[in-house]
Amino acid sequence: MFSISPQPVRLYNTLTRQKELFQPLNPPHVGIYNCGPTVYKDIHIGNLRTFTMTDWLRRMLEYNGYDVFLVRNITDVGHLHQDDDAERAGEDKLEHEARTTGRSAYEIANYYTEQYMHDLEELNILPPHLNPKATDHIPEMLTMTGHLVAQGLAYVKDGNVYYDVSNFPSYGALSGNTIEQLRTGAGGRVSLEAAEDKDAPEDFALWKHGAADRQMNWDSPWGSGFPGWHIECSAMATKYLGEQFDIHTGAVDLIFPHHEDEIAQSQGVSGKQPVQYWMHGEFLDFGNSKMSRSVGNVLLLRDLKARGIDPLALRYLLLTAHYRSKLNFTDESIAGAQNALNNFRADIAELAAVAKAQPDAIHGTSLSEAGRKVQEAFHTAINDDLDLPVALSLARELARNHKIEPAERYHLLLDFDRVFGLRLAHVEPKAAKAVSEEALALVRQRDEARAAKRWKESDQLRDQLKALGFEVRDTPKGTELG
Ligand code: AMP
Ligand code: ZN
Repeated sequence: MFSISPQPVRLYNTLTRQKELFQPLNPPHVGIYNCGPTVYKDIHIGNLRTFTMTDWLRRMLEYNGYDVFLVRNITDVGHLHQDDDAERAGEDKLEHEARTTGRSAYEIANYYTEQYMHDLEELNILPPHLNPKATDHIPEMLTMTGHLVAQGLAYVKDGNVYYDVSNFPSYGALSGNTIEQLRTGAGGRVSLEAAEDKDAPEDFALWKHGAADRQMNWDSPWGSGFPGWHIECSAMATKYLGEQFDIHTGAVDLIFPHHEDEIAQSQGVSGKQPVQYWMHGEFLDFGNSKMSRSVGNVLLLRDLKARGIDPLALRYLLLTAHYRSKLNFTDESIAGAQNALNNFRADIAELAAVAKAQPDAIHGTSLSEAGRKVQEAFHTAINDDLDLPVALSLARELARNHKIEPAERYHLLLDFDRVFGLRLAHVEPKAAKAVSEEALALVRQRDEARAAKRWKESDQLRDQLKALGFEVRDTPKGTELG
């Protein structure tokens, strides 16, 4: 690991709609909460985009020396279908899956949780420090709901408990929605929970009466039932990160109502602003609309693997778009990413061969002037609201930057990979091949080209050597083959 001069981190905060200097509440500790999957079906590569974004955020902060504690929950109850399909609209996603497949809701949740963990592993998404399950935190949700009722921020109707939005003046601050817009639908895209017994359409459920045929019901002061999806995240985030913590992440579809309601609940109980920085990732689109289980245009990681795509090629593709930009997934884009990753790995395999042959070439913190500049530029990019596309192109250029020694390039790229997570340290140096006359002639020409600083020609000659099966190393003595 090289020493890194400190640089400020700037993050775009959905709450203030601007990039802000990141200042944790309790440095060097940083608490992050990321809304996790609803485990009723396999997660798709769109969901994975959001988890990868949070992984990059965590890795970037760790690169900056912060001590990150990341919580990503498992939603295994209370998330209702909100689509147009009348057969399931308003039904708990887990209960619907159980009813229509004949399996138990717990069995379904366990199965898809395992699949999700496996996908994270394959994409090299670091495991969060905690994966709390909603069903393990019903007492905490009941306590919060009880507080909200006691404070007059929630009311009870026949076994249902609703949040009284009219009593929380800053409701709408995160999403920019006003009550007026919500009622008239002027905000467009938002759908409010349908329920006959609410006092106002924008009120939302904290606790719902559970029909006797549900598998997942719990006793409560208001009768048997189950929690609302939003209170789950408030309860788990408060329990593990405190009433106030640093960063909350999710995709943009969670801004309203899920995160708006989380603020209303958590702040309603504690009186304090719960989250300092709200970060939202844009969608992965497929066929130019949001990849979504309810639309049915989903691809799973295992679908990509079945087509011969390496999961890390998806990670590479996601690195090429800023997290606040939409990314449209196409056959061409993933094939291009796989190709680019292969080329990057080939460059790294060559550098690895040199670096491993010269274990003393790099002494811990020593960097050349040129190497230090690249590292600083990389650091500036990742700290600028996670500008990973810029960081990646710097890394690609570095791999072929002849002004920096190969061993130094290799060690710098591994340093950068602490953030990228492309498993570059696992790229193996290629085995040596018998040298032919043709290859030796190319080496001679290449040394001449390099001596004359004709870099383009030297790169072309390197490609020719590669095509013959040789790895090319640049040493102070000239071109060497591996
Ligand atoms: P869910 O399992 O539906 O609760 O979603 C888990 C996470 O994936 C949430 O943060 C969603 O907002 C996010 N998500 C869902 N669809 C997409 C998509 N197409 N692109 C990026 N993130 C998504
Ligand atoms: Zn959540």
